[in-house]
Amino acid sequence: MSKGITSRSEDYSQWYNDLVIKADLAEYSAVRGCMVIKPYGYAIWERMQSILDKRFKETGHSNAYFPLFIPKSFFSKEASHVEGFATECAVVTHYRLKNDGTGNIVVDEDAKLEEELIVRPTSETIIWNTYKGWIESYRDLPILVNQWANVVRWEMRTRLFLRTAEFLWQEGHTAHATAEEAIAEAKQMLEVYAEFAEKTLAVPVIRGRKTENERFAGALETFTIEALMQDGKALQAGTSHFLGQNFAKAFDVKFTSKEGKQEYVWATSWGVSTRLMGALIMAHSDDKGLVLPPRLAPIQVVIVPIYKTDEEKANIDAYVEKLSAELKANDISVKYDDRDTQRPGFKFAEWELKGVPLRVAIGARDMQNGTVELARRDTQTKETVSQEGLSTRIVALLQEIQETIYQKALKFRDEHITEVNSYEEFKEVLETKGGFISCHWDGTVETEKRVKEETKATTRCIPLDFQEEEGVCIFTGKPSKGRVLFAKAY
Ligand code: AMP
Repeated sequence: MSKGITSRSEDYSQWYNDLVIKADLAEYSAVRGCMVIKPYGYAIWERMQSILDKRFKETGHSNAYFPLFIPKSFFSKEASHVEGFATECAVVTHYRLKNDGTGNIVVDEDAKLEEELIVRPTSETIIWNTYKGWIESYRDLPILVNQWANVVRWEMRTRLFLRTAEFLWQEGHTAHATAEEAIAEAKQMLEVYAEFAEKTLAVPVIRGRKTENERFAGALETFTIEALMQDGKALQAGTSHFLGQNFAKAFDVKFTSKEGKQEYVWATSWGVSTRLMGALIMAHSDDKGLVLPPRLAPIQVVIVPIYKTDEEKANIDAYVEKLSAELKANDISVKYDDRDTQRPGFKFAEWELKGVPLRVAIGARDMQNGTVELARRDTQTKETVSQEGLSTRIVALLQEIQETIYQKALKFRDEHITEVNSYEEFKEVLETKGGFISCHWDGTVETEKRVKEETKATTRCIPLDFQEEEGVCIFTGKPSKGRVLFAKAY
């Protein structure tokens, strides 16, 4: 085991923290609940951004930018929205500091804002206030806009990436002429997220809708993708909301329809955040460090030379130059780690910790034999292979690694969906095995609250492939029309 990483079996949450810090992804900052994302962590986030951004554009969206601050009065316009976010708002009240005459810097009470500003926890209100000026007739619709930004939610209990007071995200905000079109948009974006999670992050997800109690504040319907972490806890990895006409009504955004009638506009919003970094880490990594799926890894192949003399090194350099060019021509990101300040063993451990999918080691003897040593991060297997056709082999191997990582996570996830038919079974599975529990529930908020109080488990979602099935709620014995998924969650 690498020095300094707690094992998963010993203490899963300590393992996670150790990993984030030792792999140089992020660290706690001087500001409570806020983190510093370090260059290697940010490089992974940038990969996520660029792949998602491409998909957003392919599905017709454009990027724009709205203010960080939201006037308090805007916030109060949509009743359930403000109620949902009120307890986590950072509020700006003044715009100036002054020296109090004794050398202390204090807030200048003469510089009080007439209206307080909320640091955006999400931007529906400022955006719908803006859309009012953009929309007059059906010809102005749809509006398909996305924003990449930071938001602030004053969370009391924070964890690196998973839940921070300030986080980075994207938020899509769309405006439509009909409810059907808005619902189709919300579903489409959920599918974009699900596909990204599965194909790029190699994290299988359950697509579903939230119960009323777990819905986004101000939404008529919240669609979600739910992932499972290695400790059996679920993680909400992305959400897409159908907002109905709530924000259009709050901000008086109407359009003239083709028939010449004045109607309120229909809305969606959807977002994923730096929490995805947490999902990625927790789904695949092991006691030696990160395991990155090749499609997301900022460095896909690291090459380490092993030599004694300058001549041996020059010989290896020449070969690596050729190999790197071939790999780059295949869109593979390669790092040649020829630092002479560290020994090969140190470099192996470092790249293992950082989750680089493939390592190529080349020694003087390899150069004589026309071979290299290939090591896979995911399976931790090594093999000596010919230099001939190596780049083709690496291209295929990276695809295989991507698939292997996904299949492993999928198998784990599928083994951790348990159907239960009594509350005793529910509690037992929750304590001994964890994961998603599929059971009948009476559909009430009271039952959800009671179960959460007693077991900490929450409804994760009503799966989109929900099957009608007559049954009785395992908590209250009342009639139920089908199974939903519960789990303990991050
Ligand atoms: P929401 O606007 O509440 O639907 O959240 C949008 C996305 O941000 C979801 O994928 C959430 O899981 C994620 N998210 C919510 N709160 C936080 C937080 N404090 N830190 C990181 N991600 C968050």
